Amino acid sequence: MAAPEMNNKLNWVNILFFILTPIAGALFLTLDLYKNGWSWGLFVLAIVMFSIFNLSITAGYHRYFSHRSYEAHPFLEFLYMFFGSGAFQGSVLEWCTDHRKHHLKVDTNEDPYSINKGFWYAHLFWMFYKHNDQVPFPPDLFKKKMLVLQHKYYVFFAVASGFILPGFLGWLFLNNFWGGLVWGGLVRVVLTQHSTFLVNSFAHTFGTQPYNTGNTAKDSLIVAILTFGEGYHNFHHHFQSDYRCAIKWYQWDPTKWMINLMRSMGLVGKVKTFSKYEILMAKLNADAHRATLRGSYDDKMAAMKQKAEDAQKRLKLMMSDWEKKKAEFKAQSHEKYKVMKAELEIARLEFNAAYNQWRIYLKAVHG
Ligand SMILES: [Zn+2]
Ligand SMILES: [Zn+2]
Repeated sequence: MAAPEMNNKLNWVNILFFILTPIAGALFLTLDLYKNGWSWGLFVLAIVMFSIFNLSITAGYHRYFSHRSYEAHPFLEFLYMFFGSGAFQGSVLEWCTDHRKHHLKVDTNEDPYSINKGFWYAHLFWMFYKHNDQVPFPPDLFKKKMLVLQHKYYVFFAVASGFILPGFLGWLFLNNFWGGLVWGGLVRVVLTQHSTFLVNSFAHTFGTQPYNTGNTAKDSLIVAILTFGEGYHNFHHHFQSDYRCAIKWYQWDPTKWMINLMRSMGLVGKVKTFSKYEILMAKLNADAHRATLRGSYDDKMAAMKQKAEDAQKRLKLMMSDWEKKKAEFKAQSHEKYKVMKAELEIARLEFNAAYNQWRIYLKAVHG
């Protein structure tokens, strides 16, 4: 897969957009508040618009188009494309080319928004430069006619969904086109852009690394709250084709919840997930790497890690065996079925015990 190469030419359209939209947003919002006072209606419109446009980036541009972490109905694909346009972050083809390269080349010179070039470069300044878009886009996306059309007429789609639509909704519900345009369009665009950009800057700088210590991606609750769940970026970089960014029920990942809702409505199929054992293994390796860096990784820890890994491998094998044979055993021999089920349960307990031993020891050593 080829992707645009960075060159040194400045992208003045982007530069002016990024400078002028916050100024215009602040100015017109202040004028509107001064003239007409606070409006709960416009506030709600801005929140609804912010949610729709941001979710189209997180669930659509990111988890669906970039990572293909689930299948989506063509109607949902269209909604992602249309509302994603209004987030003013480029076409699906451009966004995904850059994003796939970010994952593939993370933290290197070829990473389009490498954090090693600075916080503000990763957040915004990388878009101040022109990309060479003469090289092919990812073939799996380029074959979708809708995406080629969006790329070709991107400005039309972006203005229609990002500015005209909120203005129209303001006129329809509040008899206020200008208010809808300022609150749901202009101000919302600035918030949508910078909240998304925090994933590339903040979540590559501040946070924890429970699953992978080999790159700069971090899990950040603050970014997760501002980005509908995208802040669990350490998990995401390690398990990029998983449709979830957060795996625990109490973690804030509304994008995952929305995908699940769409799934219950039949608009989403075949979601990809990593098993909880694969996830635990990643945690084990990250913990071991941290212990090694601290100089406390000794023979005892190595043996404990090995024990947990062996138990995990055994459990994985037994689970795949169980999936293959359970129907056959259930039909033929109830005895065999019960024994196999019990053995699987024992293997699961053995793995959990080995893993917990490791965790307890690690806590005792490192606190
Ligand atoms: Zn990243
Ligand atoms: Zn990603």
